[in-house]
Amino acid sequence: MKKLFKCTVCGYVSEGAPVKCPKCGVDENKFEELSSEASEKIYRSNKSNDIHIEIIALAEKIAFLSQEGIDDNLDPKCVSAFTQAKNEAWTIKQRSKAELAGHMSLGKW
Ligand SMILES: [Zn+2]
Repeated sequence: MKKLFKCTVCGYVSEGAPVKCPKCGVDENKFEELSSEASEKIYRSNKSNDIHIEIIALAEKIAFLSQEGIDDNLDPKCVSAFTQAKNEAWTIKQRSKAELAGHMSLGKW
């Protein structure tokens, strides 16, 4: 597990000591080394964060396909099923977004 350093200007987290922030461009003296506890939180939550991000992308795809089905308008039952799927996709997406927002506020990012 590499040591993590956080940019005190923009919050970018770097593995190892950076020369320059790749996000905001400040020099290395604006980075602070994270404690092993803080680093562990970030490494430990990395996979779950990636899964939430992928779920959000899949839910967006479901919403897009559902809208295509709604627009196709084959019959009322199909439109109803697609409308439900679109609404459920919104719920799935927002639930994962809320979880990610919680992770960010707890330093699991
Ligand atoms: Zn920065």
